[in-house]
Amino acid sequence: MNTVTDVFGSMVFNDSVMRARLPKDVFKQVQRSINEGKRLDSAAATVVANAMKDWAIEKGATHFTHWFQPMTGITAEKHDSFISPVDGGKVIMEFSGKELIQGEPDASSFPSGGLRATFEARGYTAWDPTSYAFIKDGVLCIPTAFCSYGGEALDKKTPLLRSMEAINRQGMRVIRLFGNTDVTSIKTTVGPEQEYFLIDKSVYEKRKDLMYTGRTLFGAKPPKGQELEDHYFGTIKPRVAAFMKELNEELWKLGVLAKTEHNEVAPAQHELAPIFTTTNIATDHNQLTMEIMQKVAKKHDMVCLLHEKPFAGVNGSGKHNNWSMTTNTGVNLLDPGDTPYENAQFLLFLCAVIQAVDDYQDMLRISVASAGNDHRLGANEAPPAVMSMFLGTELESILSAIEKDEPYGGKEKELIKVGVHVLPKFPKDNTDRNRTSPFAFTGNKFEFRMLGSAASISGANVVLNTAVAESLRQYADILENSNDFENDLHELIKSVIAKHKRIIFNGNGYDDAWIEEAERRGLLNLKSTPDCVPYYLAEKNVELFTRHKIYTPVELHSRYEIKLDGYCKVLHIEALTMLDMVWKDILPAVSAYSKKLADTALAKKSLSDSIDCSFETELAAKISTLTAEAVKKTQALEYAVMDVKNYEDTLELARFYKDTVFAAMNELRIVVDELETHTSAEFWPYPSYGDILFSVK
Ligand code: ADP
Ligand code: MG
Repeated sequence: MNTVTDVFGSMVFNDSVMRARLPKDVFKQVQRSINEGKRLDSAAATVVANAMKDWAIEKGATHFTHWFQPMTGITAEKHDSFISPVDGGKVIMEFSGKELIQGEPDASSFPSGGLRATFEARGYTAWDPTSYAFIKDGVLCIPTAFCSYGGEALDKKTPLLRSMEAINRQGMRVIRLFGNTDVTSIKTTVGPEQEYFLIDKSVYEKRKDLMYTGRTLFGAKPPKGQELEDHYFGTIKPRVAAFMKELNEELWKLGVLAKTEHNEVAPAQHELAPIFTTTNIATDHNQLTMEIMQKVAKKHDMVCLLHEKPFAGVNGSGKHNNWSMTTNTGVNLLDPGDTPYENAQFLLFLCAVIQAVDDYQDMLRISVASAGNDHRLGANEAPPAVMSMFLGTELESILSAIEKDEPYGGKEKELIKVGVHVLPKFPKDNTDRNRTSPFAFTGNKFEFRMLGSAASISGANVVLNTAVAESLRQYADILENSNDFENDLHELIKSVIAKHKRIIFNGNGYDDAWIEEAERRGLLNLKSTPDCVPYYLAEKNVELFTRHKIYTPVELHSRYEIKLDGYCKVLHIEALTMLDMVWKDILPAVSAYSKKLADTALAKKSLSDSIDCSFETELAAKISTLTAEAVKKTQALEYAVMDVKNYEDTLELARFYKDTVFAAMNELRIVVDELETHTSAEFWPYPSYGDILFSVK
């Protein structure tokens, strides 16, 4: 096997493998369960399990696992071998239908946000036939959902699947209103663009902060960063190219559609974009991509950093979530189309997204919130913490003309009547220019750009799917009772534009003036995780998620707790790491360096009183002053960390971490970075920013 087409999907139990290996009727049953969510009966499950096992063993697998996505944001697996003892001290390889369909990992060590306190500790995993099984490192991995025995979702896949059902249900109601009878289902599609850093393993291993927290907690600015913009789309270095080649091959084997790769803005930063696919598969694939990136990097003596902000003063990493809706007949519902009919349908689905983003700004913000991503949102590199949408000037003018019943177009301006007139063309190229918008229309899809590089894309897509399903539900309720569809549709679209246009902004999202303007418009500006998380429990949000059966109030509450708890834990580890680095490495180093300076001055003086020792004495004095300052700041951080025990409520604790612990960390960093600037490289205990960022030659 050496051509890409041979390699692609070679480790995936996909449709063509199933067609070849399953009896026709079983194959059909599996297809039905993939497309319509129908449960497979146990006889069929046994047949599938057997075929899967034989296929996996032929590919060298010895174990199987239910592969799931607990609320830690990473994936989990527990390997079981296929062996089963038989007479004569021998074993046979077995895998039953029951083992395929359901597993029982111990749920007690995964975060549950209090779900375990109220319900049974046990959890079970259930096969998700919509995402293909695959072989990774000799293990047959079966994508599964993870629930408690009470049925509460303990993972990131269950709510995502539920949200896809919701948007299918409501979207189909709307599609039917347009007289569409051939469509039987609607799915959302996603193409997540993944950013990451690659650094040499040797420098990584010398940085406790990178090893414990994934980001640098100290580090003076290097003489050269990303100012020259000479890295973006630049030639790929041979070591990186070799990494990318192997990464692609590994991903292709698993059926991941890795498509484009290039250098990003910051030195050592890169990006991988796959071809889009169904949202839950894209989510599984993105998890695999992150895992395999890290594994392959190690093989090449490098480390792949997925943290949102590994380096201060250098661009952080995000994940652009390209999102659209598509019918099973292959129609992209966010493609404007050419006919009045297609245009009308497009406009209504577009309105559904506009309304969703406006009504659920808070939930979208929460979906991308984490301690790591807080460093990016609002900084001058990533979209601001304020939600807004970019539609492009053409499309916005068209919407405005519809809203105000004003003529639109070139020479022959005319009124646009939805469903009657063809929309004027708006060039796709015009729509992709704005890189500062958190949520941009790019011709036939939206690009949600606030996601952080390290997190699962599940949360953001759960919110998007559900919020859009809610807009569609409201539209279907109105239009299903209409006696004059065309007219009522036109009026509906007008009213949605009028009500929600405040969320549309085509200007520069990095501009301070926009933040003020956004406030005037009444848009939310939720700067940090503790600022936004309380909105989880806002009545309208609880109503949204319960109405569409995505989360029960208890499940929502558990997510609220987990988000805050995760935030506190990250800051706690960072604070302790800083203290460790300062006491154990940095203070001893600067102390030794000032001793060396003082010794040198003394030695010089002993040669002759007239020798000028001002360099040594002044620098030693400066370092001593800074050291005293650093000690004060370190103690302040220590006190702050001790005070965390005074808080019981998770929200109050998270606020304390942000306002006091994090503030103390920042103050300490300023002094330590100043010390680094003045300390001899020979004495400084860590590789510098320059050493790290340019470590891969
Ligand atoms: P660029 O970012 O260079 O403009 P594209 O816009 O073509 O490139 O694609 C960016 C990402 O968006 C890719 O991952 C692509 O697969 C994805 N994408 C394209 N069309 C859709 C769609 N209909 N739904 C979801 N993602 C899409
Ligand atoms: Mg893009």
